[in-house]
Amino acid sequence: MASTLTDRLSRLVKTMRGQARITEDNVQDMLREVRMALLEADVALPVVRDFIARVKEKALGTEVVGSLSPGQALVGVVHRELVATMGAGISDINLAAQPPAVILMAGLQGAGKTTTTAKIAKHLIEKRKKKVLTVSADVYRPAAIEQLKTVTKQAGAEWFPSDPGQKPRDIALAALDYAKRHYFDVLMVDTAGRLAIDEALMAEIRELHAVLNPVETLFVVDAMQGQDAINTAKAFKEALPLTGVVLTKLDGDSRGGAALSVRQVTGAPIKFAGVSEKIDGLEVFDAERHAGRVLGMGDILALVEQVQAGVDVESAQKLADKLRSGSGFDLNDFLSQISQMKKMGGLAGLMDKLPSQMTAKAGAADMDRAERDVRRMEGIINSMTPLERRKPELLKASRKRRIAAGAGVHVQEVNRVLNQFEQMQGMMKKMKGGGLMKMMKRMGG
Ligand code: GDP
Repeated sequence: MASTLTDRLSRLVKTMRGQARITEDNVQDMLREVRMALLEADVALPVVRDFIARVKEKALGTEVVGSLSPGQALVGVVHRELVATMGAGISDINLAAQPPAVILMAGLQGAGKTTTTAKIAKHLIEKRKKKVLTVSADVYRPAAIEQLKTVTKQAGAEWFPSDPGQKPRDIALAALDYAKRHYFDVLMVDTAGRLAIDEALMAEIRELHAVLNPVETLFVVDAMQGQDAINTAKAFKEALPLTGVVLTKLDGDSRGGAALSVRQVTGAPIKFAGVSEKIDGLEVFDAERHAGRVLGMGDILALVEQVQAGVDVESAQKLADKLRSGSGFDLNDFLSQISQMKKMGGLAGLMDKLPSQMTAKAGAADMDRAERDVRRMEGIINSMTPLERRKPELLKASRKRRIAAGAGVHVQEVNRVLNQFEQMQGMMKKMKGGGLMKMMKRMGG
């Protein structure tokens, strides 16, 4: 599904090439694809609508930047808006409170509250050197209390006992008192979840919030919940002043669209992502990285950003001038072309953007090898003297052996690089520099 979208967008990008501006007409097709992708990723419909409206507004009238085509410029706008919607930057747990700082965990049953409680405890112990106490206020499921005990031990935190005969409010107060007397930095309170929202559950967690006065009230939500995530988020947002979100089960095959819905509805930052059942399966949430996943566009988005940052029009112009003035294309120029490619997102992203005569047709599986080849090529050229780079015709057998030894490769590889260089040199001669700017433009579009 993901690659289909990439294909669809790539095709659209191609047809839009050469148009100077994003207009009302050409933006519609592209936005339709983006809308489909968001719905496929399980972003809730109202959130999709708002998102598309914002993108449209930002995109219309956007000038083409440098060598970018309008299609790619739009992809860039989409990407930036995704990141902005999910919240750029990283926010860790807030512990700015009179110790113990209380963290209240909220969410439906099965969302991953208990697991996440232990994961965050481990994070706070290891990364922030805190002394952490956990307690379960889930008096409906004795197994849940036991589960917290087990995972708390794995996390290296301390567990405060509770039992189904107690009232959640009394458990909370007892744990708070214990945490104070034993100088804990943090008290984490796991709560009961129901299978669906109900009023009694909400009243109970509101009461817990009132007695505990937590510095963090984290809403734990299962990324696989898809479209329903928005309703759950709404209910918890209405009941509690949420300070953060943890999106669990991102290791599943959901595209993680819940991140957008939940963020928009709660307005709270997504602080962490759960990425495995194991206690160390917690990552700081990174909106940049998540944006690609949501759209299923992967590299396309990253590539656009890199092309924007990386195309060095000035150095292309310099090379063009040099070629036109009659001096030849030497190994220094070759090296700078290679590093340009690397800057623009590596071979994998560039293969389909390069003019076909520059790239042998390669499958995705070959990409890693291709990247390694480029690094090796650089190593080889860097082992040459400046004179050799300017005058490759000096490179006879003994010099080649020295270079191969310097780069740690066989002589055949040095020959292979020289062959590739000669091919590109031939191409440059044909283009006489005048075509070079055009070629760079094509790389961008
Ligand atoms: P709670 O009812 O909200 O306390 O949820 P639990 O912590 O008991 O988690 C419910 C199930 O989801 C358990 O089987 C967990 O192992 C699993 N789980 C929680 N977080 C993750 C995650 O990030 N990835 C995966 N794959 N499973 C998770």
